[in-house]
Amino acid sequence: MIPVQKIKLYDEAGEDLESLPGPIHLQETQKPQPITKTSVQGRSTSMNIKRLCGSLYHKDGNVVLVVADVGLRVHASVLEGNTGFFRDLFAAACPPRPEETFDGCPIIPVYDGMEGLTLFLGVMYGYTYVLSFPSGLFKLPTSGCRPILNISVNSDEFWTLLKIATKYAAFGIRRSCIKMLSQAGYAVTLKDYDSSTTRPGLSSGCLNALQETNVRVLLPVTYYFLCQQTDAFIEECELDNDALMRLYRGGCKLAKVWPEFVAKEIVKRAQDRETCCRPIFKQAFDSVSNLILDANLNGFVAPLLYLLRHQADMSFERGLCERCKEDFQDAMFEERERVWTSLPRVFGITNTWEELEVRVS
Ligand SMILES: [Zn+2]
Repeated sequence: MIPVQKIKLYDEAGEDLESLPGPIHLQETQKPQPITKTSVQGRSTSMNIKRLCGSLYHKDGNVVLVVADVGLRVHASVLEGNTGFFRDLFAAACPPRPEETFDGCPIIPVYDGMEGLTLFLGVMYGYTYVLSFPSGLFKLPTSGCRPILNISVNSDEFWTLLKIATKYAAFGIRRSCIKMLSQAGYAVTLKDYDSSTTRPGLSSGCLNALQETNVRVLLPVTYYFLCQQTDAFIEECELDNDALMRLYRGGCKLAKVWPEFVAKEIVKRAQDRETCCRPIFKQAFDSVSNLILDANLNGFVAPLLYLLRHQADMSFERGLCERCKEDFQDAMFEERERVWTSLPRVFGITNTWEELEVRVS
């Protein structure tokens, strides 16, 4: 049996993150395996390889990636230039299995799904474009009449691409994917959160995919968005126990933010005889207290949105004098900053955002 090689995972700077057992099987160079007569016949193998139709079987390619029994003829230099994995592979053994060839090219068996692999290679070769804005991948039509296909950041294709790019240490593609996510509303800063006009339509696989691909910096906001989803949706996500615990604990903590803010900043002003606009704060408390008593309201787990909405159009603000308005807005601003800063801790990921190594661009 051919031993399973470990695949290195790198962070954006190219440093090793951890090693995961990879699905690519390599022959150990030190211990040559006995070659069975049926597997190799001279220059070409007896393997029944079919050539992939289309642009990914390059006439001048010099290496054949084989998925099941389908070959993709590509260029070692392109693989090497774009992925840490193939750079290491070719540095260790070039070609890795010289005795097995197809169309005169060495064969590298890979164990990815064909759709994911063709997407990955398509992006690598520039046949499929990764555009940072608008947030989506655009597949160029391969024939004149096919429409350009927009792949949203929450499509299965997108997550597959991120997974494969991570697996093969394709930093450029991985970075583009992360950038697209952050522009699609998976914010890393409160400024990004406020400036993104869209919120990601979460896919059920997003949290697991981010964990699997070690994109930790996007975890806090993903948990934050998940808190606002229905139980049925959370069930669909198939989170592990650890993630579920983080989600529900975090949700409980967030649910207290808005009522506590009301108690601290609105009730305080409504009761304080020194506050000139006291009656207006009193009136404001009466209107929000109804909301707080509404058990069906899940907005409490979205304090950023709540505070933002109230900052923008809370009815009582119109009646406030400039000084009280400014003073209240400052309190709101500080509270939102505090909530954002606390998100990694709220979900038990890290104590600070810095520890998540913010390297998105
Ligand atoms: Zn006032």
